[in-house]
Amino acid sequence: MQVPLLDLRAQYAPLKKQFMSAIEEVCDSQALVLGPKTEAFEKAVAAYCGAPHAIACSSGTDAQLMLLMALGIGPGDAVLTTPYTFFATASSISRVGARPVFADIDPVTYNLCPRSAAEVLKKTPNVKAIVPVHLYGCCADMAAFVELGKAHGIPALEDAAQALGASHPLGGAGAISEAGWFSFYPTKNLGAFGDAGMVVCRDDTLAKKLRALRNHGMEVRYYHQWIGGNFRIDAIQSAVLSVKLPHLDTWSAGRRERAAVYRKAFASLPLTLPVEPWAASGLANHHIYNQFIVRTPKREALRTHLTAAGVATEIYYPLSLHQQACFRDLGYREGDFPESERAARETLALPIFPELTSDQQNYVISKVAEFFA
Ligand SMILES: *Cc1c(COP(=O)(O)O)cnc(C)c1O
Repeated sequence: MQVPLLDLRAQYAPLKKQFMSAIEEVCDSQALVLGPKTEAFEKAVAAYCGAPHAIACSSGTDAQLMLLMALGIGPGDAVLTTPYTFFATASSISRVGARPVFADIDPVTYNLCPRSAAEVLKKTPNVKAIVPVHLYGCCADMAAFVELGKAHGIPALEDAAQALGASHPLGGAGAISEAGWFSFYPTKNLGAFGDAGMVVCRDDTLAKKLRALRNHGMEVRYYHQWIGGNFRIDAIQSAVLSVKLPHLDTWSAGRRERAAVYRKAFASLPLTLPVEPWAASGLANHHIYNQFIVRTPKREALRTHLTAAGVATEIYYPLSLHQQACFRDLGYREGDFPESERAARETLALPIFPELTSDQQNYVISKVAEFFA
């Protein structure tokens, strides 16, 4: 048997007719960029996550870039984030001319550790924002980060690229603090037919500036208030995403059910399973399992065993960001963030998606059990 990490065709097939008619509407209208489909999608996501404003754009990476630009973060500034995340979280900080500053992660949740963040903040000048990431679809400790931000007079901005639909006692992922962003890259829980992203925020003035920056910093055509970029979203992506959004909660429930099956099956194995830090809140989607991550010092051998058996796995992420070649000039060294480095050595993502069949999942479970037998 072959079990993929994610099977996008299984999600596409039952909705094919709806996708085609939504795409056809865009083609017939020839309103190809932004347009009414995008406005409708923005309204729908704003209502879904509980944010006053939603600004759809070209990717999750551009969403963050655009937000940092809108906040006026640039040369001479620093932004505090986690070294255990997708590259874009840190590179967007560099791309506006600011310096990414890292703090270590909590080894249990893999999210930025508030205590470590507080220590780094104390000794680092010019930090203009804190960027926790809701890694794998589970919210970071936002109450702590919002407090920490308040104490330093800076915002806590949410990288919710992997977490649309995840809930936290303080609100929906992305809409907990003053601003956050989503990615609609195809492997995210809500995936476009290509690249797309979105910023959500509370402040009216910030939202207005984001809309302008998305389109070369102009509010009146060809009069440029700011230097923005082409961060526009294609109408086809908005149309496709609007078809998918009403299904997202059902898909998240499907992921959660499969996570529960893994959890039960692996309970007696020497394998560290994902935690659900907000479970006690009683919220439905406190973890939406964009990835199901297990941890073992035997990660490489387990992966080799599963690959040989036809089970796809992935490593998110094999190298902590402070050790990346392109960030060498930040001056970090191996050992600076031991928990992030250890997570990079020991974690493995197993197949999880709403359409994963019980046959497929049982096969994965049997192959993992076989490895530890
Ligand atoms: C996917 C992802 C991004 C970037 O989103 P793109 O749409 O691929 O540009 C940023 N941060 C995290 C944590 C991600 O997982």
